[in-house]
Amino acid sequence: MDIILLGPPGAGKGTQAERLVADRGMVQLSTGDMLRAAVKAGTEVGLKAKAVMDAGELVSDEIVSAIIGERLDQIDHATGVIFDGYPRTRAQAESLDTLLGDRGRKLDYVIELEVDEDALVERITGRFTCAVCGAGYHDKFKLPKVPGTCDVCGSHEFKRRPDDNAETVRTRMVEYRAKTAPILPIYEARGLVRRVDGMADIDHVTQAIEAILDGKA
Ligand code: ADP
Ligand code: AMP
Repeated sequence: MDIILLGPPGAGKGTQAERLVADRGMVQLSTGDMLRAAVKAGTEVGLKAKAVMDAGELVSDEIVSAIIGERLDQIDHATGVIFDGYPRTRAQAESLDTLLGDRGRKLDYVIELEVDEDALVERITGRFTCAVCGAGYHDKFKLPKVPGTCDVCGSHEFKRRPDDNAETVRTRMVEYRAKTAPILPIYEARGLVRRVDGMADIDHVTQAIEAILDGKA
């Protein structure tokens, strides 16, 4: 099963993808994570992407579709993929169709996490992750069970993203509204879109997504 998790920055895509990976053995393909890794490694892609990401704007369609294609080649046909943060433009949606079709894959669902935009700044400015395993946390909504210790790997190191500040978030929202939200009708026309209340607590959002994947919603 291949799905897209769609929603504005902070909607909970990464949080839910992390759970689907653990519960169902799916693979998460987050272009944001891949680009951050490229920036950290100082690759050519990373050098091109850094300033764009820091500004909250979108990296070029060619770059992100190329890295998605490379990753897809490494994934077994039987393993389901969760696209997180991709596609973000019409051109990327078209590329994804080609990338999947060429590999004998197809999209099963596009799950839209519906959220109140006013809540997103608080979600994003409170976000942090484990510096070792990448598990996601929040200052208010999802603190580690033992303070200062990652629930998943036990590490004591955490990090915050440089673009998770109130000013950049505004630009990222504008980009989402202008370029990403308009791809929903493409998938609606194909009957693939399922909507989930992303304002519910994290467990309830997971239950709603699992029900969709199990064909019960
Ligand atoms: P995205 O991947 O869509 O940008 P994240 O999954 O990283 O968003 O979530 C952003 C922040 O909000 C994280 O710190 C996460 O712990 C928190 N969060 C995610 N889902 C919820 C939720 N349903 N309720 C409250 N906080 C949430
Ligand atoms: P994210 O981790 O999904 O919030 O993405 C962080 C940043 O990476 C975005 O603000 C963009 O600058 C860049 N980015 C991630 N995915 C894409 C994509 N599919 N297309 C263009 N830019 C992207």
